Amino acid sequence: MHPTISTDICIIGAGPVGLFAVFEAGLLKLRCHVVDALPQVGGQLSEIYPKKPIYDIPGYPEVLAGDLIQNLMRQIEPFHPTFTLGERVERFEKLEDGTFHLITADGTVIHCKTICIAGGLGSFEPRKPAIENLENYEAGKGVYYMVRDPETFRDQRIVIAGGGDSALDWTIFLANVAKEVTLVHRGTTFRGAVDSAEKVKALHDAGKVNLVLSSNVTHVHGEDALEAVTITANDSTARTLAVESFIPLFGLTPKLGPIGEWGLELEDDAVKVNTLDYSTSVPGVYAIGDINTYPGKLKLILCGFHEAALMAQGAYKHIFPDKKYVLKYTTVNGVPTL
Ligand SMILES: Cc1cc2nc3c(=O)[nH]c(=O)nc-3n(C[C@H](O)[C@H](O)[C@H](O)COP(=O)(O)OP(=O)(O)OC[C@H]3O[C@@H](n4cnc5c(N)ncnc54)[C@H](O)[C@@H]3O)c2cc1C
Repeated sequence: MHPTISTDICIIGAGPVGLFAVFEAGLLKLRCHVVDALPQVGGQLSEIYPKKPIYDIPGYPEVLAGDLIQNLMRQIEPFHPTFTLGERVERFEKLEDGTFHLITADGTVIHCKTICIAGGLGSFEPRKPAIENLENYEAGKGVYYMVRDPETFRDQRIVIAGGGDSALDWTIFLANVAKEVTLVHRGTTFRGAVDSAEKVKALHDAGKVNLVLSSNVTHVHGEDALEAVTITANDSTARTLAVESFIPLFGLTPKLGPIGEWGLELEDDAVKVNTLDYSTSVPGVYAIGDINTYPGKLKLILCGFHEAALMAQGAYKHIFPDKKYVLKYTTVNGVPTL
């Protein structure tokens, strides 16, 4: 097998954690190649919520998810990482000398000394409600399982369905963008954050959003594009609402995808790691960010950043077992280039 690319660390996943891993590895002068199944970098932040503000990144009181990804890309520029985007890593082979081959669905072969899996939720699929003909209105015709660009909904009448954080957060955000927002939830209490639920109730009391509880969207209607949805209450009363867009936000089905078949020790569909350096059960293979699990794991970006720093140390020791690592502050040493 002839590798197309050769590198020190191959990072699977170009989400925030994978990108920051390039920085931490770069400080140790380790070269990185990053592969992602999606056509763009940024993982969940670019794919699911690029225009949402994040409030718990240290040093940023507030930062848009898309801007955080842009900043991470700027931060890793000095290390000249290379990327293979739009290709899912399917296979992994350990070679006799302890190095690896990773093979993508398109046949790209990456030869690397270590692997850092930063695959997040894996290959994720939105959970779709069981509504007849829903698929007829996908692909820009009125049914959206993610909000990529809120401007799509400017001055529209929209129905959002769901009771979790995404449904609540987008209801709050789109209340200032869309002409009319209706949130439909099958229960009476929300699963999402309490303060978000309170904000939605306050918007409802102020007449800025419609709240339809104990109900489900049961039918979709329209000739070429979506024109209306039917909302059926738990007591079977139904009404039809004219809308341009319907956004069912019932979460993502986390699917580890091929990573689950590589013989790594798993727990609850996540890769088990040692918190000393976030190594997996296979020497030379590390897992950081949302994809890993260990006692006390928090699926937060800032935790993934911490894991990236320790992973880079582990990878360095794996590649150079005889070299002594000395911690150097960036304030003292600056950022070396590769
Ligand atoms: C609506 C929403 C709001 C959130 N708000 C916050 C917040 O305020 N603060 C916070 O800290 N966190 C928040 N999170 C969680 C945060 O987004 C995740 O913790 C973070 O994205 C994890 O980053 P990651 O790099 O580990 O994985 P991801 O961002 O999931 O990126 C993983 C990447 O790996 C790729 N991949 C997977 N398998 C393969 C494969 N086999 N081959 C190639 N590529 C592969 C995927 O395509 C994906 O792009 C939020 C999440 C959501 C959904």
